[in-house]
Amino acid sequence: MHLQNKQVAIVGGGMGGLLLARLLQMKNINVKVYERDFNQEVRVQGSPLDLHEDSGLKAMKQANLLHEFYANIRPNASKARILDKDFQLHFDEHNIEKATLKSISETNKDSLENISKPRPEIDRAVLRNILLNSLLPETMVWDSQFLSMEKENTGWKLHFKNGNTVFAALVIAADGANSKVRAYLSTEKPIYSGITMIEGTIYNAQQNAPDLFEFSKGGKVLALSNEQTIMYGTKGDGSLMFLLSSKIPEKWLAENDLDFKDNQKIFEWFKEIYSEWSPKWHELFKSSELHFIPRPQYYFPVNQTWKTQHNITMIGDAAHRMPPFAGKGANLALLDAAELADFLTSDQFNGIKTALYHFEKRMLERAAIATKDTLENGERIHSKNALAQLVSIFKRTN
Ligand SMILES: Cc1cc2nc3c(=O)[nH]c(=O)nc-3n(C[C@H](O)[C@H](O)[C@H](O)COP(=O)(O)OP(=O)(O)OC[C@H]3O[C@@H](n4cnc5c(N)ncnc54)[C@H](O)[C@@H]3O)c2cc1C
Repeated sequence: MHLQNKQVAIVGGGMGGLLLARLLQMKNINVKVYERDFNQEVRVQGSPLDLHEDSGLKAMKQANLLHEFYANIRPNASKARILDKDFQLHFDEHNIEKATLKSISETNKDSLENISKPRPEIDRAVLRNILLNSLLPETMVWDSQFLSMEKENTGWKLHFKNGNTVFAALVIAADGANSKVRAYLSTEKPIYSGITMIEGTIYNAQQNAPDLFEFSKGGKVLALSNEQTIMYGTKGDGSLMFLLSSKIPEKWLAENDLDFKDNQKIFEWFKEIYSEWSPKWHELFKSSELHFIPRPQYYFPVNQTWKTQHNITMIGDAAHRMPPFAGKGANLALLDAAELADFLTSDQFNGIKTALYHFEKRMLERAAIATKDTLENGERIHSKNALAQLVSIFKRTN
């Protein structure tokens, strides 16, 4: 095997990086994951994830982690309630006996037939813990923010913010949408999608946002009006995560200099931008246990390519960041990891570079399709008749 006795460095311990480490370890490869978080206890931000049969679930099965995954899913979490800005309910999946698991991604015609397939949903932090706990001790090198690297012999010498340096024969960038490793393979810059999301998390939501908490019935709430959306759902840790999403010029964040630690300022902004929305939504901003992250949505060009190298590659968002309107990003990161592990440990290629070439080709082809889907879905969800479109799709498929 081409990786025998070689040290592999995965930069980034998100979904993709962790699953890749697990799969390489199953083939006895020496691998370390360098993660900038301080430790496993750090609060994991971000939305719950639904895993798809042909990608995320397939990858978890390859890692022998399907049993643990299913033991931790949240069955009601994917049931949706669809409303308008005035809090009027237009569709309620909780009232439908055969309600199936789905995501707003499936608003596109080609994927309608997939809607009836179950898509089990899990909290991101829980999935991350399943992956972390599957690794051999000492695999994770926490508090290791990658800064730079230079070529050394046939590999790389990596430098971290904590002052440490390490050598690796093969470096895999799994450091997410703002990857620092990516620059060593590609100079392609991301393109702004026209949509910015503001992600908010309310801790202890039952106390801090009781009406919204109860209304969600443990599932998803999708509200669409005026080319704007509010989506929210609760998580197993008792928090409520919401996303405010609208079409906003790229320079808006920089020009408005919004301080996302100043909850009152964000509330003022919300009242101005979502001025036509019912005051019932104001409960989102009432608590002090509230945390915001701005998420302007960028994507890499669908026709991006780069020259394959023998000692570096990338997976997941580092390779193909895209807006989340197809619900595929984490699923693709997991599938990338599964395929890369397969290709790197297979004897069908005459060397690492050939394995990486074939891996990157397949990854970029599927990422291009997913990027087109998600951009189209983003347009639909922020269009004038978004509500009617979404309701008709949910009605047709239940
Ligand atoms: C609001 C929202 C909703 C989403 N919903 C879904 C969904 O429903 N379904 C779905 O499939 N996808 C969804 N996604 C997309 C999904 O979150 C990403 O595609 C997925 O997390 C990518 O996984 P990754 O492993 O490539 O990167 P990440 O999960 O981002 O992990 C990257 C890791 O690298 C670490 N890191 C970053 N920089 C450095 C550095 N310099 N040095 C060391 N470590 C570093 C980070 O701390 C992190 O742990 C959503 C995204 C958003 C923003």
